[in-house]
Amino acid sequence: IHPAVKYKRIVLKLSGEVLRGAKSGEAIDGAILEKVCSQVKEIHELGVQIGLVIGGGNIFRGSLGEKRGVDRTTGDYMGMLSTVINALALMDCLEKMGVTTRVQSAIPMNQIAEPFILRRAIRHLEKGRVVIFAAGTGNPYFSTDTTAALRASEMHADIIMKATKVDGIYDKDPKKHADAVKYESLTFIDALKGRLNVMDSTAFSLCLDNNVPILVFDLNDEHSIRKAVLGEKVGTLVHS
Ligand code: UDP
Repeated sequence: IHPAVKYKRIVLKLSGEVLRGAKSGEAIDGAILEKVCSQVKEIHELGVQIGLVIGGGNIFRGSLGEKRGVDRTTGDYMGMLSTVINALALMDCLEKMGVTTRVQSAIPMNQIAEPFILRRAIRHLEKGRVVIFAAGTGNPYFSTDTTAALRASEMHADIIMKATKVDGIYDKDPKKHADAVKYESLTFIDALKGRLNVMDSTAFSLCLDNNVPILVFDLNDEHSIRKAVLGEKVGTLVHS
């Protein structure tokens, strides 16, 4: 492992939307997929152990189902299946770049992915394979943020890196308020007091209880994951 690496084992949470093409509008945009994967490859080359949790919002969300008359639980399963589609896209792209991966699904589907087995996942990480966690937690009423919090806690990851489309946490919505101020870091308690929605409350409380720091940052900045892993100032760090 590269001596400058600050976080040796990470859970990288990518929301499904990061794969959507801004121009093409496609749910999984090939060019963007390559960009994202090359950022993952960069930190893989530094020797960082990477667990990837991918969302599914670019394809389907449980909440969307409700609007269309689909039951919440059915919609949630549709959402979880969406994460499997995204996971396979990431797997394929990473493997083509020479990064060895294993997809582990929280819902068994043996032809497509390994089942999620914690000890096996850790073994993969130790062997330098990127583990892609698909199908969320396997339960409706949860999110892939909760999945990231759960997997990070189970694997004793050093940090959750939550890649989004904003470059950190602000005191108010920067899209609506020009004078919004970005935090460089803040404590879990500050985040709770300020009602700052870092993650959904289930995910957030898991991180709080298990002392897993969360870094929120913008994936579109070049080399942002690499910078984050090296401990350079990017995004907002939430810590205990
Ligand atoms: N989901 C679920 N249980 C989980 C993880 C995900 O039911 O443990 C469903 C839920 O409907 C969610 C969808 O899968 O809306 C996609 O996940 P998420 O919204 O977290 O994706 P993201 O916003 O990160 O793309």
